[in-house]
Amino acid sequence: VIVGAGPAGLYAADALTYQAGPNAEVDVLDRLPTPFGLLRYGVAPDHFKMKSLEKVMQRIIDRPSVRFLGNVALGTDVTRADLLERYDAVIYAYGAPLARRLNIAGEELPGSAAASDFVAWYNGHPECSVDFGGFVASSVAIIGMGNVALDVARILLMQRDKLPVTDIADRALRHLVEHRPTDVYIVGRRGVAQARFTLKELREIGDLEDVAIIVDPDELAVSEIDVHELAGKPDMAPILQTFHGWAKAPRKATPHRLHFRFLLEPERIQGTSRVEAIRLQRMTGDSRGVTRGTGEYVEIRSGAVIRSLGQTGRMLPDIPFDPKTGTVPNVQGRVAGRHGPAAKEFVTGWARRGSTGVIGNTRGDAAELAELIRTTIRSEPEGAAPPDLIELLAARGVQVVTAECWSRIDRRERDMGKELGRPRVKLESVGEMLSAARAVDSTTRPPGPRTAPQENLS
Ligand code: NAP
Repeated sequence: VIVGAGPAGLYAADALTYQAGPNAEVDVLDRLPTPFGLLRYGVAPDHFKMKSLEKVMQRIIDRPSVRFLGNVALGTDVTRADLLERYDAVIYAYGAPLARRLNIAGEELPGSAAASDFVAWYNGHPECSVDFGGFVASSVAIIGMGNVALDVARILLMQRDKLPVTDIADRALRHLVEHRPTDVYIVGRRGVAQARFTLKELREIGDLEDVAIIVDPDELAVSEIDVHELAGKPDMAPILQTFHGWAKAPRKATPHRLHFRFLLEPERIQGTSRVEAIRLQRMTGDSRGVTRGTGEYVEIRSGAVIRSLGQTGRMLPDIPFDPKTGTVPNVQGRVAGRHGPAAKEFVTGWARRGSTGVIGNTRGDAAELAELIRTTIRSEPEGAAPPDLIELLAARGVQVVTAECWSRIDRRERDMGKELGRPRVKLESVGEMLSAARAVDSTTRPPGPRTAPQENLS
């Protein structure tokens, strides 16, 4: 069984049904009624190529040897013991859902939020806890220099006629067409050489037609230690060139500006009843490449502060968790328990490594994991087997969303989109999803018996 139907979990299902023997059968659980995890709720809606991976993921779910069981939460609807009792191997693939915090004064003010909440909002995540409909700010500061910061800035600044052709959540579309900030700041606590952007994503933001990119050449200074560090990072050279190009380029005459600011560490978010500004200390790099404060402070006036600092894992009942790394402790994907390696528990994706790497990286993990499982796990002899998980869940009153139910949700969303000339309109609450899942539809096929795995999708 795999816990988590995001890309890491589904690539693991793909690899297992292909590599772990012709009789391998896999159940994939997800807390939400919908599959695809970060692909549906994390990837920016305008990243069409990446979003098209959903088709590949759907083909994995459609395999007769794979069973999708949505709306099933580990720790609430099923316990670790329930899973260990029923399956030869248990794979945790539930990601790293919690946003890191700045831990500075003012972080709780209205107008301050995590990038992951903003992403959840524009992607229609049903558990989004912040209503960005109330975020009306002409100036927004994003803290952190990773690809998520670029996603957030792009969605905030993108020309509004580019939004409806995406599957952006209806609530976000309605708000964003009315409100487009004039100034967005992406702020890093370290220098340009330490930025974590990737080149493709950086260039993409430079392609926004009516947005001026503003970079202060003085903040691009690369220290000697950076030069040394950069020698081992050939990917950084074109990134530096891109920034230097922007710093030199004549400024576009447009009311929409994206400012990149370097070497500024957040000290305090200011405001009386809501965010009005962020105060930051100017930093400098020392000879060991460690930054230290200069004692000089800078203020950026902004009505919203979005922290984009990366994600960390969540502790689930009974499952080993290392609070320092925010991951499930493991040795090459095998869960490390208090008394040594767990007999049949594994972990993959961001739950294994933390929030680093792109979706494609989890495929390598999946292949490695499938091989580990193939070579170390023996199917337990049939005996007095406990009832199938579906029966247990039914007895507990859990409304399981099967692949067939998910196809009804999917169809409902596409139909709603068709009426508006959009690819889909996402259902934004679990209640709506469950009622779409229940809708009687004579064209959906009944759950059939499992057969041997089909082609590998990789
Ligand atoms: P990230 O790449 O880890 O970037 C986090 C940023 O936050 C870093 O610049 C980090 O600076 C900064 N930071 C952390 N703590 C801070 C603090 N207390 N104060 C100020 N700054 C702080 O995280 P991410 O952007 O969330 O991305 C996560 C992963 O998803 C990455 O691997 C990313 O490439 C991937 N992703 C890919 C795409 C895409 O391919 N299109 C899109 C989105 C995400 P330091 O370096 O100084 O710690």
